[in-house]
Formats: sequence, C-alpha cells, structure tokens
Amino acid sequence: TSSRSPGDGSSTPRSPRVNKGGKTVKDKRSDSDFIFGKLIGEGSFSSVYLAKDIHTNQEYAVKVCEKELIIREKKVQQVTREKDVMNILNSNQNPKAPFFVKLSYAFQGDYKLYFVMTYCKNGELLNLIQRVGNFDRECARFYTAEIIRALEHLHSLNIIHRDLKPENILLDERMHIKITDFGSAKIISKEEIEGLDDGKARKNSFVGTAQYVSPELLESKKVGPASDLWALGCILYQMVSGLPPFRSRSEYFIFQKILKLEYEFPDGFCEEAKDLVQKLLVLESDDRLGARDRNGYPSIRTHPLFAGLDFDTLHELTPPEIV
Ligand code: ATP
Repeated sequence: TSSRSPGDGSSTPRSPRVNKGGKTVKDKRSDSDFIFGKLIGEGSFSSVYLAKDIHTNQEYAVKVCEKELIIREKKVQQVTREKDVMNILNSNQNPKAPFFVKLSYAFQGDYKLYFVMTYCKNGELLNLIQRVGNFDRECARFYTAEIIRALEHLHSLNIIHRDLKPENILLDERMHIKITDFGSAKIISKEEIEGLDDGKARKNSFVGTAQYVSPELLESKKVGPASDLWALGCILYQMVSGLPPFRSRSEYFIFQKILKLEYEFPDGFCEEAKDLVQKLLVLESDDRLGARDRNGYPSIRTHPLFAGLDFDTLHELTPPEIV
C-alpha cells in the first residue's frame, strides 16, 4: 500500500509551462507530484523510498533528508557535493557509459530535501555477491568492464568517486550497473590537474570505507583518479573470491594491512583476474595499471582478462547470467 507520508506537502509546486503544441509540461516537481511507496533503505541521515510520478507513472527512488538532521550532523557539504556531482553527470551524459544513477529532480520543502533518482530495481552489487557467494570469470570480467567504462567517463569529467565499493554499485532492471553515492566525491580543480597545487595545504581527512580505501588516502598523499583504480582492484578481488582483500577485526588493522599490501589469493582464483588485481593493488598510485593513461584506460581495456570484450557496446549487451 502506498502512502504519502514522506512528503510533508510543503515543497512548492511550480506552475506548469505550456509548450507550443498546447501540451502542459512540468519540468519541475514537488513532493505532491509523487505517490510514495515502500521504504527501499535507510542511510545514516536519509531514507530512500520507491515513488511514482503521478503524471508519467515512472518509478523513482526518492532520497529524503531532514534538513535539521543534515545541519546537526554537519552533512551540508556532503549533500551539496552529491547534488553538484550528479548535476555534472546529468549535463555530460555519455550514451556508451550510462552507468550512473541519474538525478531527475531535486526540490525541498520546509523541513525536507528530496532527490528523485533512477530506481535500481536489482539493488546493490554487494547483495548479489553475498547471495551467490562469488562470480564466475565471465560475470566478474563483465562487471569489472562496466565499472572501468564508468570510471573512464567519471574521470574524464575530473571527478573522483573516492568511495567506490559494491554497496555503491547498484543494478538496474536489466542488471547493468549504476554507480551512486557521490557524497565523498571530489571535483579536481584546474590547479590540481596542472600540478600547480603541491598538495601541501591539503589534508586528506578519511573519506570512504575502510576496506576499499587507498594507501595514499591513509597517508595523506595526493589522492587522484588512481584511488578509484585501487578500489576497482578490491572490488574485482571480491567478485572473484566473495570477500574483499583486506579484512580484519577493526579499521585500524585493515589500514595496517593496506599499507603493507598484506593480502592473499585463495586457491583457484582465476589467473587473469589475479594478474589484473595485482596490477591495480599497487601501493604507489602512479604505478597502478591505467594511472598513466591519458584518454580513458586503454592499458586496462587491453588486459588479457577482457580479451574479445567490446567496451563500447557493453551497455547494449545482456549481462551474463549469475549462477
Ligand atoms: P550512508 O548515507 O549512511 O552512507 P547510504 O549511502 O546507504 O548510507 P542512502 O543513500 O540513503 O544511504 O541509501 C539507503 C539505501 O537505499 C541503500 O541501501 C541503497 O542501496 C538504497 N538505494 C539508494 N539509492 C537507490 C536507488 N537509486 N535505487 C535503489 N536503491 C537505492
């Protein structure tokens, strides 16, 4: 049963525009334009509901945040950044890399903020890995390739995700990936790209998630696109083996293992995937496979794991069946 509870009815509906054909089009929305359904999930300062646009019947995932909580928890910057990054992605869509959750509308009421996003019916990649235990070679290479394609696009826009992990990689109704959660993302400035910023003034506060965090972030060194390539190495390892490479009972011990590059491959780990993981989990960020590439990641694309895979038509393919 649906209810309208998440909407407080206080967000301002915009007056409809009338286009040339006399048809009414609404390019703005308010909470009263949606019928709110089930709660999909909860974050530390947000709730995500399934909702239907009453004009188009389109389903969306609507993230609702209490303004007071955002201010009290000092998350204003994070929420703003998430919206900024999603707006950049919206205005720079790449039809060959449609691998991001899209922000369709954002509006606010007196007490709440609303983010109307693509609904990813098949949930998190993490749940899928946990459900099946681990992926076979075909699945692992397909999903790794989709993540690479997504990172190529993201990094071409000078955005680093900084919290890439299987929980933030959602699956749409066709089982293709949609990356989300840009609250920790960083938009690299022109100075940083041109190397004019020596990074001395910058202090890397820990962002991200312990298991996937790169050594340079832990050591307050320069964090760049290669930090997402480190996370990619961790995710590929996890798809193949079922668990992330650096595991321990506390964040502290996980960090120690990361800094010492202390992890092992279980028996039977696919050899080509192992080779790629070893080339991504490299302590020196500049030495990771792809880190020195200019346009996209040709050196990763040409890794033997991806032999015969066309990165430009990935989004048109039917993903391999998960068994
Ligand atoms: P935190 O903010 O504490 O880091 P979070 O990022 O998981 O947590 P939310 O972004 O509010 O918090 O997401 C809450 C839940 O809703 C998550 O479990 C996520 O899988 C699910 N979810 C978020 N966005 C979508 C979406 N577009 N489609 C389907 N499910 C989603």
